[in-house]
Amino acid sequence: MLIEAVDLSKRYTTGAGSVAALDAVSFGIERGEFVAVMGPSGSGKTTLMNLLGLLDRPTSGRLALAGEDVSRLSADRQSALRNRHIGFVFQSYNLLHRSTAIENVELPLVYAGIPRAERQRRAGHALERIGLSKRREHWPVQLSGGEQQRVAIARAMVSEPALILADEPTGALDSHTGLEILALFQAINDAGSAILMVTHDQTVAQYARRILRMKDGRLEADGPVTERSFAPSLQQPGEQAS
Ligand code: ADP
Ligand code: MG
Repeated sequence: MLIEAVDLSKRYTTGAGSVAALDAVSFGIERGEFVAVMGPSGSGKTTLMNLLGLLDRPTSGRLALAGEDVSRLSADRQSALRNRHIGFVFQSYNLLHRSTAIENVELPLVYAGIPRAERQRRAGHALERIGLSKRREHWPVQLSGGEQQRVAIARAMVSEPALILADEPTGALDSHTGLEILALFQAINDAGSAILMVTHDQTVAQYARRILRMKDGRLEADGPVTERSFAPSLQQPGEQAS
């Protein structure tokens, strides 16, 4: 089992009171799965991704990554695990604007202490896989939104992580560019990385084989994607979501 979450809860306390952003969520993810996370705004999707990505700690519950209980690990040990096993893709790309495309892709390998020549070889290969070799020396500002997201995907996959967490990765892109991005995720999944992708878009979710549905911080449903998953609209892949 790649991810095992048992009664995972996260409570935020602010001046305005206390909110259960995540409420006793339990599920498992196997290596190589492609899972969509759906649910209305505020239902806890980003909170869940932050916990799974070891960017935040649960208030209670248990979380194991590749068989290791991560809840009680030190921050340093968590960073090491995160860097080795997890790649991130965000809606807003989150590239470093003073670094070129290839320097952005190299970043996880810098953290991993990989020597420069090896870094450049691997980052160059990742850019080749996502079809951006010609843009390797470009600054992010010189790239379209879709190209920036492809660089972010190359950065997420350059260390060949077991898990890629993507929080609405097509949310800021037009539907055609979004489909190109999804084809890349599909290829990365075919190459062996598990993918957990938050999306509002049924067309996007159809690329997954399983859907976790969140509501009010709870896991409301967890099941395979079938042609009935999106009834009554029954959209086919490639059709526009409305
Ligand atoms: P989603 O990604 O599904 O839109 P979030 O996980 O961002 O939902 O938020 C879930 C709930 O937790 C919301 O009610 C949100 O307002 C609250 N929340 C999220 N992050 C924080 C935070 N840092 N401080 C306080 N409340 C938060
Ligand atoms: Mg969110």
